[in-house]
Order: sequence, then C-alpha cells, then structure tokens
Amino acid sequence: MAVGCVIGVDLGGTKLLAGTVDSRLDVHHRAYRLARPDDTAALIDQLVETVQEAIEAATDEVLAVGVGIPCLVEPETGIALDSNHLPLRGVGVRDLLTERLGLPVVVDNDANAAMLVEWRCGEAQGASDAVMLTLGTGIGGGLIVGGRLVHGKRGAAAELGHIIVDADGPPCPGSCPNHGCLEALVSGHAIGAEGLRVARDATESALGRALAAGREITGALVTELAHDGDAAARDVMTLMGQRLGLGVVTLVNIFNPEVVVVGGGAIAAGELLLGPARAVVAERALLPGRDAVRIEIAHFGPEAGLLGAALMARDGSGLLNAGYTETLA
Ligand SMILES: [Zn+2]
Repeated sequence: MAVGCVIGVDLGGTKLLAGTVDSRLDVHHRAYRLARPDDTAALIDQLVETVQEAIEAATDEVLAVGVGIPCLVEPETGIALDSNHLPLRGVGVRDLLTERLGLPVVVDNDANAAMLVEWRCGEAQGASDAVMLTLGTGIGGGLIVGGRLVHGKRGAAAELGHIIVDADGPPCPGSCPNHGCLEALVSGHAIGAEGLRVARDATESALGRALAAGREITGALVTELAHDGDAAARDVMTLMGQRLGLGVVTLVNIFNPEVVVVGGGAIAAGELLLGPARAVVAERALLPGRDAVRIEIAHFGPEAGLLGAALMARDGSGLLNAGYTETLA
C-alpha cells in the first residue's frame, strides 16, 4: 500500500467534513463547514475550499481525494444522478473536483462509503452479507451481498431509507415521491419533529420545559435529554427505535445479513434506538434470519462516511466492485 495520505470527504444534507487521513486511517486534520445547499456552484466552491484546507494541513504527499455525497452516484462516471437533499442532480461531481483540485478524485454515495469502512475494518469486518444504515438529515443505506458492495445497474441501489414502513405515513422529504418511508419516520429531522409533538403535550417533562424556554426541539436535543433520563424524550427514542426496527425487519427478510450496522449523527442515541429496534426484529422478522443478525452501532460512529471516503480514495476509482481481500497494515 502506498504511503502518503488521502483526503476523505463526507458531505451530508447539512454539514461538510473533510479530513486528512493516513494509511492507518488516522485522521490528522478535520475541516468542518455547515453545508451550503443554496445552489450548485456555491456547494462545489465550498467542497473545493474545504478540501484545499485539508490538503494544506497535510504533512505528507496527498495521493487522492475520496468524496461521499448523499446522492445516487453513477460509479463509472462520478455523476450525481439524483439527490434528495442537495442541488447536485446531473452534476459531474468527480470531473468537476478533479479539474479544480488537480488530484485523482473518487465519488460515491456517502452511505456506501460508510459501509465500505465498516466492512473492511469495523463492525461488519469479515461478513459476507451486511447492511449499513446512516441516520442523519435523512437515512442512507449501504449493502454488502455475497462479499461485494452493491451499486445496482446505475448506482441507485441500497436506498434503504426509502423502504416503506407506513403506506399512509407522512410524505418523504426532498425529491422522493413516496409516503411513509423509513427516512420520513426515523431520521434526525424526524426525531426532532416527534420530539416537538411530544413536548407540546408533556409540558412537565424536560422536553416540554425546553420548548417553553424557547429552545429549538432538534433531534440532537431530544437525544441529549433522553440520555439524561427524561421520560418523554426516552419515549420519543423508543418510538423511533421501533420504527427503525420495522425497516430492519424488511432488510433481514430480504438479505439475511450477518450484521446491520447503524451509523450517522443520530446514532448518538445509541442503545436508546437500537434496543427497541432489536426487540421489533426479534418479534417480527423471519427465522432463521432474525436469530442470525446482529444490530450494532457503527464502529467508526459518525466518522464512518469520512473514513470510508478515504478508503475509496486509497483504493482508486473503479475498484469498488472488484472484491476486497486486502486489509489495512
Ligand atoms: Zn422516500
């Protein structure tokens, strides 16, 4: 494996993180921005500027740049075919960044990147079949089936956040035409929305008092109060975990994975989410899949996307489906 470092980039619906990453997956510098989803040119400018900050902080030669974006990405071209949250539809992200940065650039879906690093070095290491869910602004998905990262015909596979959990549920945010998708019911945004609903009723709870004090009820705040033991906030997390479990039931029944890895910013809730999810899977998924599956917090937590993008950069474009046997030294 070549020495030198790579830049890993995790672009989410609301935040942008670039890191300078060495061959042991240690991150030496992090450049963080709130993403600018207002228009395409501004977002590309921001990507370039954030990566350049990470490049300037590198103390070793920068070999390549790997970028995980919350979009359906055509693997061969690095073109964003669609995006539920950002103005990148039809944008040739790989070629634009290659030209602006003067370095090799690899682009893939952000949850595919997270799946990659969890499979190579994290909770799914050694698994022939595994599922990744990243809970952030929306829900990203990644899949390992038969020892290969699944992209589908044109890069549109593993959109696991759009499993229908409630056919009569709320409209899915962004460009998805569906209703009641997992993403509409469980994402960081959904936790905040459900927290607000509960806060209005449970006025004596810490959640209710936070609302009365004028605080914005976000997924992060609900999670914090749940960890502090507030019963109303914990009820929200239990409901979210149960809904997550319904989605995982479908994944277990389709893919019979060894492990379902859950990452993204909202996994700060940890066992408050996964405990109820496991209970639903144990009750409602088919045998033998339900007994065989582990449901685990991402080993790399919310940094899985950044580190997976760094691995993509190190492996190089076009190798994502070649089948990995190499492990990091
Ligand atoms: Zn949807």
